[in-house]
Amino acid sequence: MYRSHSCGELRASHINTDVTLSGWVQKSRDKGFMIWVDLRDRYGITQLIFDEERTPKSIMEQAQKLGREFVIQVKGTVIERESKNKNIPTGDIEVLVKELTILNESKLPPFTIEDETDGGEELRMKYRYIDIRRNPVKNNLIFRSKVTQEVRNFLSNQGFIEVETPYLIKSTPEGARDFVVPSRMNEGQFYALPQSPQTFKQLLMVGGMDKYFQIVKCFRDEDLRADRQPEFTQIDCEMAFVEQEDILNVFEDLTRHLLKEVNGVEVEKFPRMLYDDAMRLYGNDKPDIRFGMQFGELNDVAQHKDFGVFNNAELVVGIAVPDAASYTRKEIDKLIDWVKRPQVGALGMVYVKCNEDGTYKSSVDKFYDQDDLAKWAEKTGAKAGDLICILSGDTNKVRAQLSALRMEMAERLGLRKPNEFAPLWVIDFPLLELDEETGHYHAMHHPFTSPKPGQIELLDTKPGDVKANAYDLVLNGNEIGGGSIRIHDKETQAIMLKHLGFSEEEAKAQFGFLMDAFEYGAPPHGGLAFGLDRLVAILGGQETIRDFIAFPKNNGGRDVMIDAPAPIDDEQLDELNLSLKLNS
Ligand code: ASP
Repeated sequence: MYRSHSCGELRASHINTDVTLSGWVQKSRDKGFMIWVDLRDRYGITQLIFDEERTPKSIMEQAQKLGREFVIQVKGTVIERESKNKNIPTGDIEVLVKELTILNESKLPPFTIEDETDGGEELRMKYRYIDIRRNPVKNNLIFRSKVTQEVRNFLSNQGFIEVETPYLIKSTPEGARDFVVPSRMNEGQFYALPQSPQTFKQLLMVGGMDKYFQIVKCFRDEDLRADRQPEFTQIDCEMAFVEQEDILNVFEDLTRHLLKEVNGVEVEKFPRMLYDDAMRLYGNDKPDIRFGMQFGELNDVAQHKDFGVFNNAELVVGIAVPDAASYTRKEIDKLIDWVKRPQVGALGMVYVKCNEDGTYKSSVDKFYDQDDLAKWAEKTGAKAGDLICILSGDTNKVRAQLSALRMEMAERLGLRKPNEFAPLWVIDFPLLELDEETGHYHAMHHPFTSPKPGQIELLDTKPGDVKANAYDLVLNGNEIGGGSIRIHDKETQAIMLKHLGFSEEEAKAQFGFLMDAFEYGAPPHGGLAFGLDRLVAILGGQETIRDFIAFPKNNGGRDVMIDAPAPIDDEQLDELNLSLKLNS
């Protein structure tokens, strides 16, 4: 028996008990006649004491050799500690060691195993198995496990069945590139790894499973922006005989369940916001509504004066930044530089200081009088002491730029509080999105999403105006889930694919199996998927998903611990009947 108790278990009530503990040496203090060792495992830390007078000499000698991260087993007696440590649950006691076994030695770890470590990101990733011993990482993984457990509890109680779907499939169009896997048995052919189980879950509905879920890995070969992983986990769900309303209710309940069970937070009914309103009021389809600073559109009140920049703009729009009228000229210049950075891309920024005495001071005083500026203040909801920041230009670009500024100001003002949760549904997304580069439309969600009833005819005349039965769940400025009511008849699916530029043959080759299935009694159905990694991170009060994944990849898509991806040897290539010819 390696242990009778864990290292987090012993209390004053165990005094005089003989125990066996196993764990890692966190640290040791050697005073010659006495040695203290902090022994650590997943459950906590227990202090061991080796005492010249009470511990056999041979064991004293062995204890002197213990290094950090050695794995040991000790047998001893629980005794009361002279100087108690109120900071840890085992702080009232220590274990007087009588026997010591070194189970495994350890090289000096490359970084300290403390909450605040001296190890940099890359080093921690290379030795992730050591990093996982640190409390912040360990606790995040335990937290993740709790969230997934609660997801399973809730969905199982609601009658959802967990079904696994295959990983070796063919392309699922979620808008990214596929990872592909060569097939040995089918020479020259490749599987694609699923970007999501989308088509399979729809087929499960045709198969009569009625309510499906799966906590599942998805694979997308994208350029990795800051916080993306090439493989990530979804809570993937689908239901038959449902309308949008049914789906929103079930998954709102799931989210509320998680917030309650995991965070102890009760949230009222989630607000619902039309996509168009989200864009108009926040410049963003995933608005953070923990704070205000809603957009005020100023075209009416700012155009048709002598200020050419505004007159020529498609949209003039501003936000009132609370209590920022006191910004100095220098601070404002810095802010203007910030919006002009290529990542934001604004050409400039007009500002209005709303003075405490009710007057206004703006960077465009030459063109606008106090009455004009008062109207701007009204439209942006600015009060005395606020700073109105105004951008202008092409509608889509300006909205994105002002949204970035809004988030930045909220960050600076401490308005993005991690322990405050503000979920909402964004609904009525457009069905199609224009790709500015190619001039083609593609599905904003995916090609299986159904248009709003009665709008299918619009596809020919005004494709950009067609709205979809598609919805996103947004939490604190992050999209944590998204889904749609699906097309469930072959004819509509064919029209949709045609509008997305698929020829009839291409449609058949890629999605023939799904369209065939629609001819064998497909029920109306719909669903959604949550991004589990991000959901867990946000519930955990953080925004980086990497810290909640046991073995994440770096920004270059590499696993630096196992050193993947890596070349394969010639023998493997031969088996696949492939030869490698790199084009550059
Ligand atoms: N498959 C979709 C996605 O990965 C989710 C859904 O429509 O259910 O975003």
